[in-house]
Amino acid sequence: MLNKVIKWFDNEAVDTTLDDSKHIDWWRVLPFIGIHLACFGVFWVGISWFAVIFALGLYATRMFAITGFYHRYFSHKAFRTTRAFQFVLAVLGASAVQRGPLWWASHHRHHHINSDSLEDAHSPVQHGFLWSHFGWFLANKNFATDSNRVKEFSKYFELRCLDRFDAIVPLILAIAIYMLGAWMETAYPQFNTNGLQLLIWGFAISTVLLYHATFTVNSLAHIWGKRRYATKDHSRNNLWIAIVTMGEGWHNNHHHYPGSASQGFYWWEIDLTYYGLKVLAALGLIWDLRTVPADIRELRKIKH
Ligand SMILES: [Zn+2]
Ligand SMILES: [Zn+2]
Repeated sequence: MLNKVIKWFDNEAVDTTLDDSKHIDWWRVLPFIGIHLACFGVFWVGISWFAVIFALGLYATRMFAITGFYHRYFSHKAFRTTRAFQFVLAVLGASAVQRGPLWWASHHRHHHINSDSLEDAHSPVQHGFLWSHFGWFLANKNFATDSNRVKEFSKYFELRCLDRFDAIVPLILAIAIYMLGAWMETAYPQFNTNGLQLLIWGFAISTVLLYHATFTVNSLAHIWGKRRYATKDHSRNNLWIAIVTMGEGWHNNHHHYPGSASQGFYWWEIDLTYYGLKVLAALGLIWDLRTVPADIRELRKIKH
């Protein structure tokens, strides 16, 4: 029993050599199911304006961390920063409860190399919608981090540690949210919130919305939308996905030129993550933001 619980917190306690099939270890993925069920707690704890705004704030902050840091920095090196700030970016990313930065980036790099081929772990074209949306990362075969695919980051001890014990970050976040709510209940009763209410909204509901918005980039963004570039895959550009994911919906642009910090290639392609990265660059925290070169932006366009 203890060993099974340890597997929720120590990724190295999971023996990934046991199984290379699509088999799902239901005990191990219980927290993922549990956070979905926890959303129904809203019928007990009710609603307050503060809890809703707090949940949306945490959604936006963590979406920015996933798209700006896990995706554009750790997966694609679209900008540069210091080792210390890189760790801050990694911790913020881990708060989204999508595993560690090395796991995330190593699987994402594999997706770009194999996109929509049989090898692609989450191609909706090859494996169906639900598998591309969340089945793939529940399966045992995709649990391990392939550090060979992220060699330049695997050399940092602090990133390896975070990748191994990534669940600690969301656990601390959940406790902090509960404590904030409990404190507000007595200090600011006019906000009508409490520990449990803030935990359900700020952690469970916010994280589940964040999950399914992020997952649409793997599932919907390869089947729904317009194709501007003749990429080897089925990637699409989709305004709606770009809005909920803060810029990741320009997925056909992204597959055409993955190294760009901006996924909107034209001024009208809204990309909130890129605007956020520009602010971090203006503050001097990150630098060398890469964008798509003008000639590459015009290459391989599909004539409609
Ligand atoms: Zn893709
Ligand atoms: Zn990518």
